[in-house]
Order: sequence, then C-alpha cells, then structure tokens
Amino acid sequence: MEAEKLESSRYRGDLDLYHALKTHPRLGKRIEDAKSAILRRTIRSQLLHSMVRVDARLLPQIARSMERLQTAAGLADAIEMYVFESSAVNAFITRGRSHLFVALSSGAINILTERELEFVIGHELGHAMFDHVDFTVGHLLEDNSIEPRDRMQMFAWKRAAEISADRMGLIFCGSLEIAATAMFKTLSGLRLDGVAIDVAAFAEQWDHLMAEVVQSGDADGHWQVTHPFPPLRIKAMQLFWRSDYFEDAVGLRLEGSRPSLASIDQETAKLLAMMDPLARDDRNTGNPLLVDFFQWGGLHIALSNGELTPREKDRLAHIVSDDRMNAAINTRPTVDSTLERFVDCLKRRDQRLKPLEIHKIMEGLLHIANADGQMDANEKQALINVAGTLGVMPLAVEMMITKFPIEG
Ligand SMILES: [Zn+2]
Repeated sequence: MEAEKLESSRYRGDLDLYHALKTHPRLGKRIEDAKSAILRRTIRSQLLHSMVRVDARLLPQIARSMERLQTAAGLADAIEMYVFESSAVNAFITRGRSHLFVALSSGAINILTERELEFVIGHELGHAMFDHVDFTVGHLLEDNSIEPRDRMQMFAWKRAAEISADRMGLIFCGSLEIAATAMFKTLSGLRLDGVAIDVAAFAEQWDHLMAEVVQSGDADGHWQVTHPFPPLRIKAMQLFWRSDYFEDAVGLRLEGSRPSLASIDQETAKLLAMMDPLARDDRNTGNPLLVDFFQWGGLHIALSNGELTPREKDRLAHIVSDDRMNAAINTRPTVDSTLERFVDCLKRRDQRLKPLEIHKIMEGLLHIANADGQMDANEKQALINVAGTLGVMPLAVEMMITKFPIEG
C-alpha cells in the first residue's frame, strides 16, 4: 500500500490536536525544543544494557515480522527491536540519535501469537509514521508551570494519537478479531490459547468497565489517563473497520454501503469526548454541569492547604472561567463550604452521575490537584473527600494518583 494511502488513515482528531499543540502559544516552542534534545540522547547504550536485542538468529519470527511491517510502513529509519523482562503485555517505541527503537515485553512475546504481535508492532510503528515519536509532550506533563487546561489538552491529544496508532495496527494485522484479541490479552493477561474473543461483546464492556473501575476499590489498575479505555479503543477500531477506507485500501468487500472515513472520525470524536474533562456537556436539563463540579471540587482542593493563592485562582479560572471564579470567591468559600456546595450540585441533579461523568470529574480534579507538579497530604485528603461523595473509594483515588501522569 502506498505511503500516502496509509497516511490518510490517520484519525482526524489526532491531526487537529497535533497542529493545535504545534502552534500553541505556550507549548509549541517547548515541544519543538524537546525534539532536538531527543536527537542528542544516548538511549541506545541504556537499552543494550538493560534489554535483549532481537536478532534474526535469536527470535527469527519476530525479526521477520518487523522487517515485513517496516517495509509496508515505508519507514526509512533504522529500527532496532528489544525485549524487556515483564510478565505484563507491553510495548513502546522511542527514538535515539541514530535509530528508532521498538521494545516488547517478554510477556507480549510469550502470550501473543505472531499476528497479534503484528498488531502491537504495527501500533508502535504507527506512532513513528504519524510523528508521535518525535512530538514528545511527556516531560511537559510533569512540568509544574503548565496550566491544568493545557495539560488536559495534551492528554486529549495523546488519547487521539492512540486511535491513529491502533488503526495502523489493525491495517497491518488485517483482522479486527486479532486486534481485539491482542488487546484483550494485554488487558487481562490471559493466554486464551487459540480462543478468539467476541469483538462486539468486548466493545459492550465499556459501561461495565467504567462502573467497575470507578466504583470499586479493587479494580486492577486500569485507570489509564493517556490511553483511552480498551473497550473504547475496540469501538473505535470497529468503526474504522467498517469505513470506506478499509474497502479502498485493503479491498475488503462487505455487503451494504460503507460510511466515509470522515463520518467515522466524527463518531470516534464523540467516543473520545466522553473521556475528556474539557469536552462540553451539552445536555440542556438545568442539571448542574460538570463545570460546577470542577469549580467547587477544585476550590475545595485548592483551599485544603490554606488560603487560595493568586496562582491557584488563575488556574481554576482558566478551567471554569473568570466570571464563575469571581462569583465563587464572593461567597467567601471555605474548605467546608466548598465541599457542601459540591454535594449540593450532586443533590440537584435529577439522575445519578454516570460512571463516565464521574470519570471526567475525577480526571479534571486530578489535573487541578496536580497543578503545582505534586500533591501534598492535604490536597490528597481533599481529593479523597470529594471522591467519597461520588462513591469513589479511597483506594481507587490512590490508584489514580500513582498512575498519573502515565506515559506510553
Ligand atoms: Zn500507543
């Protein structure tokens, strides 16, 4: 397949956010500066010290897959592959001075079949093809001078980028079932030995998974901030698989007409918006909006370690607007009154918050609590207090905090 054709599979939301960040008045130059730092670093010697390099004699099958996919992807860069010790199924791609490096966990090699690995490798190569590898925002996510709002935008882009990478993995492994099975194995750690998973059933798990993760303390660490939840990724792949792109590129003929890639991108954007705290809440019901929850929850956290500083005020105003912030400050808010207001918003709703809405509120508040690059004991307690009113257990909050921010 020609490079252009592959390029055109890129998810529109990824491309739009990528350009928005590139020309961003506060972030654009800093992302550009990080690029030159990448080209100077000596990551290869670190990899050679800590991992096993995949070589055609050691792991011939994987080396062959890699070669085939690199040719198909039209990537001219020299690529080296490494294996690192971890029972979890995991992979990443990064750039050093002279090579691209793709690293796979030993768990991925032990558990995934050859074609499932091609999905994973294809996904990683997708990150290289779409310039995600050189467009690094990871260091900025940990920089305490970054506004929470800007940080949320970077996270939104990273999630969108995963959708583009998944599409490439899907194109290269050539089967929705295989892609879904690879993802299911990654998530569950189960081997499944030859059993293909039911794609539709997996996609349906979305609501259950959300409820499980948000409202039970023992969910097993799937609070992924930068990666969209796996069922969402499956849903997005399902949509893409049905699009006219797939018919044109792969010559896959199915009965009935295929929706255009542009309309599939719009559907996908709706799915991703469900995870984005900044996405507008357009229900017109008179119910308190998510922004009300950010306002009072955010103030509760900001006040938990003393006075509201001008900087904290600025940051909150950035998310909820100056007018709202000034009005809130006129009520002379205290730690207690802000939590009461938050609970009040909950009570005024005519139906319970959905797991997704809870997820958005928690994620937004986490960004606010992390605004100064760290979270002290008071802020953490304040976050736990707010979470408690939403039915989120303290253990789940701890888990979110340790997973934040996540790179991958
Ligand atoms: Zn990825």
